[in-house]
Amino acid sequence: MAQRIFRTIGLTKIYDTGKVKVHALDGVDLDLYEGELTVLLGPSGSGKSTLLNILGGLDNATSGQVWFRETELTGMRDRDLTAYRRDHVGFVFQFYNLVASLTARENVQLVTDVSRNPMQPAEALALVGLDARLDHFPAELSGGEQQRVAIARAIAKRPEVLLCDEPTGALDSKTGVQVLEALKIVNEQLGTATIVITHNAMIRKMAHRVLRFQDGRLGPVEVNDTRLSPAEIEW
Ligand code: ADP
Repeated sequence: MAQRIFRTIGLTKIYDTGKVKVHALDGVDLDLYEGELTVLLGPSGSGKSTLLNILGGLDNATSGQVWFRETELTGMRDRDLTAYRRDHVGFVFQFYNLVASLTARENVQLVTDVSRNPMQPAEALALVGLDARLDHFPAELSGGEQQRVAIARAIAKRPEVLLCDEPTGALDSKTGVQVLEALKIVNEQLGTATIVITHNAMIRKMAHRVLRFQDGRLGPVEVNDTRLSPAEIEW
């Protein structure tokens, strides 16, 4: 039985913009497990990014509790939350945020230079299938290749958790599949618990666990006994 990596109880996030209060998360109870690839589905505005940001220590809950293993994140001081993020979490966003003047290898090196037990940049890039692109600049890479550099950068510090917000959102199906392959390899070879937000409901077929959100609430959780490979996923 896999160990639990995250638990939330009654997790609530209210954005108070003065005129209106938005319940972005409305009492979410969930458990996520080590080594699993989890997909978060739900319409725009249903609370997926808010959840990801709280799990990653980028944002605070309004009420309720979040644990990373035995450590409670809710109520942590900012300094401790920053250390948690630095030591345990990698992020991948829809847009790759690479430094245009640095090569793929140098972009990854920005992280490995300040990490405790990092991979070599070349090793991280090889893992995502970019061994032949080490010295290319972002402008010389396709969108999918740039996203794979971003994945290599996120995992080079060997985080236990990889949080991905619409990682294929800007990609066509062919390059999107390559990005999903890279996420699958990271999940399988490094054992990184991977959480992926997507609008593409087909991607749920490659997940161990599927969470559906609606209006800040979590619906029934789906666990897949058999999974499709990224190449089998229709866009
Ligand atoms: P999703 O990722 O599913 O699209 P979000 O978590 O981004 O949903 O947003 C959930 C709800 O919270 C939405 O109604 C959104 O408009 C609102 N929201 C998100 N961030 C903010 C913010 N910084 N200020 C005010 N409202 C926000």
